Order: sequence, then structure tokens, then C-alpha cells
Amino acid sequence: MKIFDEIESEVQSYARSFPRVFNRAQAEFLYDEDGTEYLDFLAGAGTLNYGHNHPLFKKALLEYIEADGITHGLDMHTRAKGEFLESFNEHILKPRDLDYVMQFTGPTGTNAVEAAMKLARNVTGRENIISFTNGFHGVSLGALAATGNSHHRGAAGVSLGGTSRMPFDGYLGEDVDTTAYLDKVLSDSSSGIDKPAAVVVETVQGEGGINAASAEWLRNLQAVCKAHDVLLIVDDIQAGCGRTGTFFSFEEFGIKPDIITLSKSLSGYGLPFALVLIRPDLDQWKPGEHNGTFRGNNLAFVTAKAAIEHFWADDAFSKDIKRKGDYIAERLENIVNQYGEGHFSTRGRGMFRGINCVNGELAGKITRKAFQNGLIIETSGADDQVIKFLCPLIISDESLKRGIDIVEQAIKEVCAKEDTIPEDNCYFDDVRIAV
Ligand SMILES: *Cc1c(COP(=O)(O)O)cnc(C)c1O
Repeated sequence: MKIFDEIESEVQSYARSFPRVFNRAQAEFLYDEDGTEYLDFLAGAGTLNYGHNHPLFKKALLEYIEADGITHGLDMHTRAKGEFLESFNEHILKPRDLDYVMQFTGPTGTNAVEAAMKLARNVTGRENIISFTNGFHGVSLGALAATGNSHHRGAAGVSLGGTSRMPFDGYLGEDVDTTAYLDKVLSDSSSGIDKPAAVVVETVQGEGGINAASAEWLRNLQAVCKAHDVLLIVDDIQAGCGRTGTFFSFEEFGIKPDIITLSKSLSGYGLPFALVLIRPDLDQWKPGEHNGTFRGNNLAFVTAKAAIEHFWADDAFSKDIKRKGDYIAERLENIVNQYGEGHFSTRGRGMFRGINCVNGELAGKITRKAFQNGLIIETSGADDQVIKFLCPLIISDESLKRGIDIVEQAIKEVCAKEDTIPEDNCYFDDVRIAV
């Protein structure tokens, strides 16, 4: 369709990788205008954990709209909001013994990150926030300052301040616990790093290349934060809502963040919706101190409640994610061993997995080839070198196998054409930089 070239901005991104006009979707499938079916291993960059247009959530939404339920109400109390709060409390917070108050921000993930950082600064009276190499927290200025990616940072047009970067788990090689460095820096009044209000971290870095922090590293991080009286913010926007196998990505690691951000799959239906969970004593906002016209999307309250009640009332879904996650891990490991010439590696946790192809050009050739064969799959990482497997969690076993088969075939074909798999600057000495 010419109209996209004519008047849609050059800022388009995913549209370039998948140049079709899509007009229908169901579960793990997308359909273009010609009726061609595509298997969706991108899933709205982690927004469609429950697939496209889940029939139960659609029904709840249609009934709500048909009955003239509130669509927009600023932050006023609505029945839809009340019912979502009850469901979330009953099925998510209470069974996990978590005690948080809930703040609805503007509907994007970035809005939630901005609110979390602002609150941490206000409560502690400190400006600095520690974030990590390859972290991604959004592209509005405050959140962008915590984001590592130079392409996004470069677009800011102003200096990005108020944050300091620390090495993420694995950044200096497998044997280096980078939380020891953080501890040292925070213990030394002349380290040059101002005492921070908070540390903001993803347990698995999505945009940064599917870098999964270990349980031990996260526990150490929490201990360092506690020791220095620094708040721990877990940005669970992409890793949360079941992606790693549990509702929160950290819940099996025994840590309790002070603040948590959620968005992406929270609505369950691809509707914009974001939430900040706040340790009750930190909820020191004054009325309206942080606001926004679209705080809490009432349509999303309806679908999010349906999603929580359908998928999270017991642990069956969680078990199924882990089972499929193990299958993906095993398949990817085999693919890497077979075609990776010792350079490719796997990464990730649960159904948040990737193949590091070391070289972005190569990874791009593979995903383009996969697209020709009906699979929508993207790359991530500093050089787009990691093929990112992010299929809906509800995917059938058959589709899951088929999607991985398509990637395997694409890797086989692309690698057969390359003389050698390039070893680029991701490696120096024996230390592999986790990109
Ligand atoms: C996507 C994402 C964000 C930003 O969310 P938007 O809705 O795009 O603003 C923030 N943090 C993480 C970890 C994300 O994956």
C-alpha cells in the first residue's frame, strides 16, 4: 500500500522488517490482506503473552462496551477498576505474600518507569539512579537516561542526566559478580558515583539481547541495595506477566523489590495499560502530584481482570510455560550446536529465549529468511545480533515446533552460504561481553 510510504513517518521500525498489511489476528497467528497466515514469534514485543484477541477476553470486552461501561474516567473510581484491583490482589499479590499499593500511570511502559523513578527520587531526596549496561526502560527523557542503547539515546537531543550505569550480570565475564563492584562504588564516598535513590533493573534484558540475570546476582543486588539504603526497582514490563514462567519474573528468586513496573502484557489483549506497584510506606505521592489523562485504561481493566482470572487462579499455566520453555531451550541448544560453529550461543529463561548470532547482519539475514517462510521474528541486542523468541505463551505445541523449525531451516540455509560465521568485536581476550 502506497499510503504508508507517502505519509507515514520514516520513524517506522517493525513495519520495515515485515512489509505487509496485516488486518486480522487470532492466538499465535497474524493474517495479511491477502489472507496469508504468519506465525507470530514477536507477539507485540512481549505484549501478547496470551495471544491475539483471546476469545474470553474479547467476550468480556464486548459485553462491557455493549453495556456502555465507562471507557474513560481520568482516575475516577469505576467498577471496572475496582474489580481489576480485587482480582490482582486476590490472585497475584496475596498468594505471593506481596504487599504493594497500585498506581495507574499513563498507559505506556515508559510512563510507569517515569513514575517509579520520580517517586524514588522524591522519597529519598536523592537524584541519581543506577541502571545497567544494555538496559532498556523506555524512550521518554527520564526513562531514556536509564536506557543504554546508543541509537535511542542519540535521538534525545538533550543531555540525559540523573543516572549512572553499572555492569549487568555477565558483562565482565561469567566469573565476575558485578554487584561486588556496585557495593564497592557505593561504599566509597570518592567513587564519583553519587549515592542513588534507586537501582532500576530488568531480570531478563529484553531489548538488550535477552540477557538473563542469575538468581544469585539478583539476590546480591537486593542485598547491596538494602545495605546502602537504596531502593530496588524491578522493571518487569517485558519479563513479567508470565514470560519467564511465573507472573513476576523474580518471584522464585526470593527477592522483594521496593517498586515494580508492569505494562506490555498486563492488559492481556494488547490494550495500552501500565502499573506501578509501590511498597506501601513509599507511597508518599501527594494527590495529583503525578497525573495524566489516560491513567488506567478502563477497557484494559476489563481484559486484564479476565486474563488474571483465567490464567493465574492456579499454577497450571505457569507449569505449561515452564514445559514449553524447556522445549525451546533444548531445541535452541541443538540448533546452536549444529550450526553455530562454536560462536552462536543460547540465552534466556522460560519462554524468553534467544540465539546470539554474534553478528547483527547475520541475525538479520536469518530473520528475513524466516519471514519468507511465514514466521514473524525479530532481533534484539546492541547490534541486533540476538534472534528473539517471544512467541505467545498460549502457543500450541505444534505451532511452537513449526516456528522453531522455520528458524532452524533459515539458519541452516543462511550459514551454508557464509564462508565462516564472523567473529566480531563481541569477543576480546577470553572475556565475552554480554551484549
Ligand atoms: C517496552 C519496555 C519499556 C517501555 O514500554 P513502552 O510501552 O514502549 O513505553 C520499558 N521497560 C521495558 C523493560 C520494556 O521492555
